[in-house]
Amino acid sequence: MLIVKKFGGTSVADKEKLYNVANRCIEDYKNGNDVILVLSAMGKYTDELVAMAKDINPNPPKREMDMLFTIGEQMSVALMGMVMNDLGVPAISLNAFQVPMRTTSTYGNARLKSIECERIQNELEQRKIVIVTGFQGINKFDDYTTLGRGGSDTTAVALAAALNADACEIYTDVDGIYTADPRKVPKARKLEQITYDEMLELATLGAGVLHNRSVELAKKQGIKLIVRSSLNNTEGTIVKEEDIKMEKTLVSGVAADKDVTRIALIGLKDEPGVAFRLFNHLARHNINVDMITQARGRDNTEDVSFTVSIDNADEAAEIVERHFREYEKLEVAKNMSKVSIVGAGMVSHAGVAAKMFEALYDERINIHLISTSEIRVSVLIDEKHTERAMNAIHEKFKLGE
Ligand code: ADP
Ligand code: ASP
Ligand code: MG
Repeated sequence: MLIVKKFGGTSVADKEKLYNVANRCIEDYKNGNDVILVLSAMGKYTDELVAMAKDINPNPPKREMDMLFTIGEQMSVALMGMVMNDLGVPAISLNAFQVPMRTTSTYGNARLKSIECERIQNELEQRKIVIVTGFQGINKFDDYTTLGRGGSDTTAVALAAALNADACEIYTDVDGIYTADPRKVPKARKLEQITYDEMLELATLGAGVLHNRSVELAKKQGIKLIVRSSLNNTEGTIVKEEDIKMEKTLVSGVAADKDVTRIALIGLKDEPGVAFRLFNHLARHNINVDMITQARGRDNTEDVSFTVSIDNADEAAEIVERHFREYEKLEVAKNMSKVSIVGAGMVSHAGVAAKMFEALYDERINIHLISTSEIRVSVLIDEKHTERAMNAIHEKFKLGE
């Protein structure tokens, strides 16, 4: 069997943990399997690199940021190579250049395009454990790129797909995928399995346990993912295609995203074309808009609110001020959070959204914006209420039982 095993930052945070990871890989290796090990930067090292960069330049060029980021993963794989050597197991560390792993050119948010398998296959044939840097790639200019924060999961899935692996295991600091972040919702319950679609929604809506693009890719390539603890041997959670026999869960999880800013434009003219002009300016500047509402204002006017990520907030407000002066007042609120419920069974059940709103009403939490899809309901609330809202919703749908 060919097994891809990915270990996140906390799982490789220190010397003892590196040895723990190595031993888990060596067990599979000694049972006759080929093992590819994908590692993240140790502990919070990537955050430290961000802080270091911002101390020098609050707006560091994205290219230089990626150049800096790649040292984190490179440090992990090199040290792991030394650990394996110390344990007497043949192993080799490779970075994105050495594989090579090609991506699109976008620094900070590149997409993997191709992985050349020859080098890795050669090393595996020589019965080595191959240790690959997560998160990074190289673009057409032969520059380093990164896949976005949390992107090592995607590296692992892409390697599993490219090399036709028999298993792709994501090891982390919790026992699997829960009905909500167990650090925020103490009653959260571990799921035995979850569908790609539900996990993709949860990951996109803030459940950081998996990088959303890793789930997207796993679905596209039909790769079954197993998410489990690096610290114990409990079973973990399987992410896979929907089982026809499986009863669709009404609500499978709650997620929250604090990276949200609301921009409200008050007193727009109530006439055709206003929304087009506004959102066209934002789109032309590559600003991703998430939730949108339009409401009747005073004296035949409209108010429009929309959300963007915090990183894009200042730029979005500036674009609106510069190119679209068709409003009376502009408000920017950065202390917002989006809380969502996800469930494949929602589409065929009435009243799911109402029940979520009731949970918030019970807690007297005000809803600023709402958006829905077939398998999701999201609300925008004040950030300070996030954990209370998550727990109340989790309780209302009895997700812990
Ligand atoms: P790693 O460094 O291993 O990639 P991450 O911090 O990226 O770890 O992801 C694991 C964390 O995801 C957990 O510690 C947990 O707090 C958080 N998390 C958020 N939502 C969920 C969820 N639904 N189930 C499990 N963990 C979650
Ligand atoms: N080290 C990177 C990060 O912290 C990538 C990852 O951990 O997946 O975002
Ligand atoms: Mg992660």
